[in-house]
Amino acid sequence: MRGILFIISSPSGGGKGTLIREVLRTVPNIGYSVSFTTRQIREGEIDGVHYNFISHEQFENLIKQEEFLEYAEVHGNYYGTSKTQVDHETSVGRDIILEIDVQGATLVREKAKDAIGIFILPPSFEVLKERLTARNTETAEDLQLRLKNSRGEVQEYTKFDYVIINDEVTKAVTDLQSVIYAERCKHLRQTEAVEKILDTFESFKTNSIGD
Ligand code: 5GP
Repeated sequence: MRGILFIISSPSGGGKGTLIREVLRTVPNIGYSVSFTTRQIREGEIDGVHYNFISHEQFENLIKQEEFLEYAEVHGNYYGTSKTQVDHETSVGRDIILEIDVQGATLVREKAKDAIGIFILPPSFEVLKERLTARNTETAEDLQLRLKNSRGEVQEYTKFDYVIINDEVTKAVTDLQSVIYAERCKHLRQTEAVEKILDTFESFKTNSIGD
């Protein structure tokens, strides 16, 4: 059985990074898709872990080589999902989280119809602004751009299967874990295991006396 693609989107500062970190730490058999980006590396980020940081030219070459499952321009930089990594992880039955923007989410869902979309919504615009400002990773200009773009991004929530309101982190983490575990329990994703169990019922019927 192939792994499940979980697409997680939110406006910048919505807190998805914290939730995803916690889920990767606590939920077994799930990986994280390391995107390619042309954005400048931030303090504390590690190349190859948070993103693969590349130049515009390298990004364009990867587009030509059809290396992206999707790519988009977000807040003035390019970001793209590695088809190779996603295919590799899901083909060995491992689930994967794609932390991508709303445009990318739509593109992936056109290609992978069974991908699961999860939208992380901050409790209010004020809280989003506070979180983004406190993070202190953007220039004033970039901060304004991200806040401006957030207004359009939140309108996209209906395109997702689930919405998690990220007011209280512990609750939001539980919600996210619950979505992942619930999706894994869907009967269509468990056909192989279920069939094996059902076989044991069949053999009981044929071996038993008086049946
Ligand atoms: P940041 O610069 O804050 O790390 O990310 C900015 C935005 O780009 C976020 O909304 C993030 O989810 C999105 N993003 C990160 N990687 C990808 C990707 O591979 N594709 C798309 N479409 N968006 C991405």
